[in-house]
Amino acid sequence: MSGKDKRHEPPGELRQRADAALLKQAAQVPENLDALSPETARRTLHDLRVHQIELEMQNEELRRTQTELDKARSRYLDLYDLAPVGYCSVSEAGLIVEANLKAAALFGVVRKALLAQPFTRFILKEDEDLYYLQRKQLLATCVPCSFELRMVKHAGAPFWAQIAATVGPDEGGVTVLRIALSDISERRATESQLRKLSQAVEQSPESIAITDIHANLEYVNQAFLDATGYSHEELIGKNPRFLNSGKTPPATFVDMWQSLACGKVWKGHLHNRRKDGSEYVEFAIITPLRQPDGTVTHYVAVKDDITEKQRIGKELDLHRFHLEALVETRTAELEVARQRADAANVAKSTFLANMSHEIRTPMNAIIGLSHLLRRSGATPEQTARLDKIDGAGRHLLSIINDILDLSKIEADRLQLESTDFHLGIVLDTVATMIGEAARDKGLQVTIDADAVPVWLHGDPTRLRQALLNYAGNAVKFTAKGSIALRARLIEDSGDKMLVRFEVEDTGIGIAEDTIGRLFQAFEQGDASTARQFGGSGLGLAISRRLARLMGGDVGADSALGRGSTFWFTARLERGHGAMPAKPVMTDVSGAEAEARLRHTGARLLVAEDNAINREVALELLQRVGLRVDMANDGLEAVEMAQAHDYDLILMDIQMPHMDGLEAARTLRALPGWETKPILALTADAFEEDRNASKTAGMNDFIVKPVDPDLLYAVLLKWLPATRMASAAAASSTAGPAGPGTAAQAAGTQSGVTAAALERLAGVPGLDVARGVAVLGGNAALYLDLLGNFVTSHAEDMTRLAARLDAGDHATARRLAHTLKGTAATLRADRLAEYAGRLQQMLPVGAEWKILPEVLRLEMDAINLELMAIAAALPPAPAPAPADTAPLDKEALRAVLDQLDALLAQSDTAAMALFDQHAAGLRTALGTQGEQLGRTIGRFEFEAARNSLRAARLRFEPEGRE
Ligand code: ADP
Repeated sequence: MSGKDKRHEPPGELRQRADAALLKQAAQVPENLDALSPETARRTLHDLRVHQIELEMQNEELRRTQTELDKARSRYLDLYDLAPVGYCSVSEAGLIVEANLKAAALFGVVRKALLAQPFTRFILKEDEDLYYLQRKQLLATCVPCSFELRMVKHAGAPFWAQIAATVGPDEGGVTVLRIALSDISERRATESQLRKLSQAVEQSPESIAITDIHANLEYVNQAFLDATGYSHEELIGKNPRFLNSGKTPPATFVDMWQSLACGKVWKGHLHNRRKDGSEYVEFAIITPLRQPDGTVTHYVAVKDDITEKQRIGKELDLHRFHLEALVETRTAELEVARQRADAANVAKSTFLANMSHEIRTPMNAIIGLSHLLRRSGATPEQTARLDKIDGAGRHLLSIINDILDLSKIEADRLQLESTDFHLGIVLDTVATMIGEAARDKGLQVTIDADAVPVWLHGDPTRLRQALLNYAGNAVKFTAKGSIALRARLIEDSGDKMLVRFEVEDTGIGIAEDTIGRLFQAFEQGDASTARQFGGSGLGLAISRRLARLMGGDVGADSALGRGSTFWFTARLERGHGAMPAKPVMTDVSGAEAEARLRHTGARLLVAEDNAINREVALELLQRVGLRVDMANDGLEAVEMAQAHDYDLILMDIQMPHMDGLEAARTLRALPGWETKPILALTADAFEEDRNASKTAGMNDFIVKPVDPDLLYAVLLKWLPATRMASAAAASSTAGPAGPGTAAQAAGTQSGVTAAALERLAGVPGLDVARGVAVLGGNAALYLDLLGNFVTSHAEDMTRLAARLDAGDHATARRLAHTLKGTAATLRADRLAEYAGRLQQMLPVGAEWKILPEVLRLEMDAINLELMAIAAALPPAPAPAPADTAPLDKEALRAVLDQLDALLAQSDTAAMALFDQHAAGLRTALGTQGEQLGRTIGRFEFEAARNSLRAARLRFEPEGRE
């Protein structure tokens, strides 16, 4: 055996062989050493030494081998434990018999805990079969195998393991499975991530290509193959420039390479050609791919075929240009249409304004003349017809007003007023306006303003209008019971609030399903209701529009036969200015008496081109003791206003020669006319007209046909308060005592005044002292007013009887009511009391409370009272200042007698006689003379006779028949 071979022998065998050689040599040594020849002995000794040295060398070799073996074993154990791979030996029974540290670490336990554990304890249940299969094959074939297995750590966390297994005997010769395992969870996750990414790239609908740094294709995805029509093999390794159709501008490539050379992303369009020769355009984004050290190793191109998009874009461009042209055409057409619509709107407004004017003017004649006819002694039958004319006229007028209102609101031409107002007055006014009709039906009207502040800011006119529409309906649709007007505070945020107005009635009610549509224009409960009750179906629509204009809404709660509650809300503010100490409620129904009381003798100019309107105005104004001059147009009005000192002008707007606006402007520029009241009197009901008249310098606006009570109310507002004194002065200067004897107080009366006062003081029930005191001691004025009062009310009972005969109980009651009020003002207390009593006795609705005969007695009593006062009044003023034809008392009496006789015969010679003495009669009889002339001129001979008698009462109280 060579030394080299020996070195490879196991140390145990080596030593055995060395020992045996030594023994062999020792056996060759003779028993008796002395018998040896020296030579032999020397050789033997030499051999022995050689043996000994060899043995020592072998020993040395043995020791070294042992040390190396020890080292190798320890190195093996170190490597076994420090290996990055886990090793286990698993017995045929499946138990772990040996494991390195890494295996223990992989399973999350100490090595000792692994020993004798079943290896399957660390395999995920689902993968156990796979393990058993591999194991079975391994044991059968002894061919090492490798596979991936899902395992679990001791604590339960799963992980992917890569398994390599062999089979063989262990040191003791027992067959074991040697298993190497490593945790590949991370690798698997990375692989899955990579798989996803590669799938994303592979399946991307955009062409993706990766080239090396020299632009040779290394990868293309399916979309790239599809887009180009080439196969994978035809593309890989090639420079994609071969796809260029030649239509990509060279500058594009220059730009591309400049960007890529700087490591920048490039984007642009490439014009390419497919394998089949067709061309296409791509939008490409090429990105340099950098390695961690920053070097660029590849380029990635992502490309989108935009051929179709470009085609659509071009088409869209075409459409857009077309559209723009279309829009331009349409805009132009719209502009033309708008101009036409504007023109039509202007035409409509003008039409409405004209219609308003055209309809209102004849309506004025109808209402005014029927009013006058009624007053001039019509028979009961005629009066009844006149009432119908008047009623129909007013109804027609209300419809015209509604239509105009609705058109105005719809044309956005209605501007809300914004002013301080007293809520109580709005509610009272509405209650007053429906009062008479409600009383006629025996309905009770109540007002409840709850906790709503009384001093508000908003548009009282529109509030009243909306409320009146409801209240008017409530009266119309209620036969018995009551009507409640209410205001409630819904929201209150300091200055601003939402107020709800309600009108509740106990009337016929409305079916629930109908309520919703009633607020639409021209809608009515149902056809039969409409026929029974009449109406235009506009009231609620107007209320709704008004409420919405005021920031609110409308609604109604009702059920058939159970009454209705109509409501609307409005946003209002608290009154801006301080509330007047005692807000004046202009009770229009009392305005006539008040006007007479406060402004008798005031001088007015009326400018009006229409003869009938002039007549109506004259009648209405003179009735309350106003002195009236007439102008036929603006020009005449301006001339007259310069010549006389008028207290107020009523000015029609549309007049020939110079219209009312022009006249007002001219007047405002004249000295003395800067501030005097000029009121527009017009049939044009639009806001613009109102504004135009304001701009022209007019103070207010009276709409024709004139509602007498409203006319008086407006006059009360504008006639100067100081007029009382000047009227007194005028009346006293006109009196017989002449200038300088103006009776300012009871103590400084003229003889005539004093005598009259004395006579009047003797009339029972007339408190002269207090009457004069009320007028600040102006006795002359008191006499004047009392005279006017007696004259204008002389025929009250005759009129009242006629009204009763005609069944017009409401007017009858109003007559009594007015008489009561005026009498009370003048302290004719007993007369006031009688009139009040009469008012109570008069029938309400169809129900007579008292026998007509008893009523007559009461009326006679009133007539007697009136006569008693008339008899005590001083005679009429002395005749004729220098410029009028004088008529002495005798002559006057004679003329009046003659006139009376002619009138009694209805002889038209009365006209000639009056004309003959017109100047003298007017001077002597004042306004009564004027009135006499007018009534004769209108052939109203009966009325003229009454006027004549009334005038006589003043003129010759003692001498009356
Ligand atoms: P009209 O002029 O017809 O009264 P409105 O618009 O004021 O027009 O009312 C429309 C309809 O609503 C009426 O015709 C009536 O049917 C119904 N209506 C309105 N108010 C009441 C009410 N208080 N009670 C019963 N029905 C009412």
